Amino acid sequence: GTADIVCDLLVLGAGPGGYSAAFRAADMGLKTVLVERYATLGGVCLNVGCIPSKALLHVAEVMDEAAHANTLGIQFAAPTIDLDRLRAHKAGVVSKLTTGLAGMAKARKVEVVRGLGRFLDATHLEVETTTGNAQEKTGSTRVIRFTQCIIAAGSAAIHLPFIPESPKDPRIVDSTGALELPFTPKRMLVIGGGIIGLEMATVYAALGAKVDVVEMQDTLMQGPDRDLVAVWEKQNASRFERIMLKTKTVSVDSQADSLVVTFSGKEAPKERQHYDLILQAAGRVPNGKKIDAANAGVIVTDRGFIPVDNQMRTNVPHIFAIGDIVGQPMLAHKAVHEAHVAAEVAAGMKSYFDARVIPSVAYTHPEVAWVGVGEDEAKEIGRKVTVAKFPWAASGRAIANGAEYGFTKLLFDAETHRVIGGSIVGPNAGDMIGEVALAIEMGADATDIGKTIHPHPTLGESIGMAAEVAHGSCTDLP
Ligand code: FAD
Repeated sequence: GTADIVCDLLVLGAGPGGYSAAFRAADMGLKTVLVERYATLGGVCLNVGCIPSKALLHVAEVMDEAAHANTLGIQFAAPTIDLDRLRAHKAGVVSKLTTGLAGMAKARKVEVVRGLGRFLDATHLEVETTTGNAQEKTGSTRVIRFTQCIIAAGSAAIHLPFIPESPKDPRIVDSTGALELPFTPKRMLVIGGGIIGLEMATVYAALGAKVDVVEMQDTLMQGPDRDLVAVWEKQNASRFERIMLKTKTVSVDSQADSLVVTFSGKEAPKERQHYDLILQAAGRVPNGKKIDAANAGVIVTDRGFIPVDNQMRTNVPHIFAIGDIVGQPMLAHKAVHEAHVAAEVAAGMKSYFDARVIPSVAYTHPEVAWVGVGEDEAKEIGRKVTVAKFPWAASGRAIANGAEYGFTKLLFDAETHRVIGGSIVGPNAGDMIGEVALAIEMGADATDIGKTIHPHPTLGESIGMAAEVAHGSCTDLP
């Protein structure tokens, strides 16, 4: 058939993966079209993920700091919270960024087509166009013919089977609903003790809700070493009402005056619990099954992921896939990195994905950040490592900031002495972990890091100190 638009490169989805790919491709001279069903660019991350959550976590942190200052001789009154202004703050942060993206797309002559896309075949995508706030369909479709395509359609929150989908109860939300701050609940249940669940739990606790967190696994966060989680748990012991590990949520019953929940498991409360807000944060599913990829011959796994090679190509060589839709970890910076690889390959470069590590951060209070090989993992796989831990109780800055509970840990390969992993728990851990990622990518060893002059007094110098600790135990170092 005929096409309404013809392009060199079509990018499906305008999240961090999609817009980064489109911008890089346009910069390299490809005529690029970006298809997005929502009104604004930025995808989950900017609109309903990374950015709005951090806008709210910032406020929670300010409140924590004010409470801490009360113990230092500076008295602040108990906070009063204006939810409307808080929502406006969050919306303002998001719109600054999405507006900026729209400008960047325009400057690069990336054509943005609004609407829901589905593949017709391996060179055509049909878009059911939408206007305004995205959900309104115009009733018309446009067909785009592409030479190459990058699928960046992202992921969506998992819907738990024991929660009835309809009639929809406004008191049961996913992360998107929780970020809207519908109201301040008295009692809230967060189902899922991963990063997203704990970040939102932190926000709602700051707003004054009594928050329970329920997690099926035997530990929160899954990912960082247990010693970091232990510090986090200690610091958060009084923030939440209850953290229930190894506990299954069995049923949720919507009643007029409350949501009635039953749990099972050793640590589960025997009595039914009453909540007025429930957040489902039990993971995310890739959107692979929602785009008619089979029409283009693109393989999608049972779980909805699209397999790719190290150039981000799917089984159909001129169609690439990036971001959440290709696999874990579902993180924005991973999506952006993959986007650049795919766009460069599409433009004829010999790029490929060869990053050694992808850092992870929980932006809770305190923050937890980790990258590369963990100590627990090294033990499990029997890898010989040197572990160097620098407790922040020995850091002047940490003590001054009331953060002496934190620590910085580096892992070195026992033979090469090169750094292969690192983790940090404490304020600003996320901002610091990038140095460890860089050190790993550069193949730095304990001497390189230890002899790098770090500014004093900073929390970041704990990375240099940890390397010095390792130096002491690696006697055969030069
Ligand atoms: P997405 O951002 O999911 O974008 C996909 C886009 O494709 C969407 O805009 C969608 O509307 C569009 N789309 C899908 N199908 C179609 C279709 N058929 N037609 C048209 N358009 C379509 N990551 C971090 O690194 N740091 C964080 O702090 C962080 N915080 C998070 C907090 C929350 C609450 C959540 C939910 C996620 C968070 N993430 C964070 C994860 C991060 O948001 C994702 O990893 C990232 O957005 C993935 O980017 P992506 O480009 O693959 O897909």
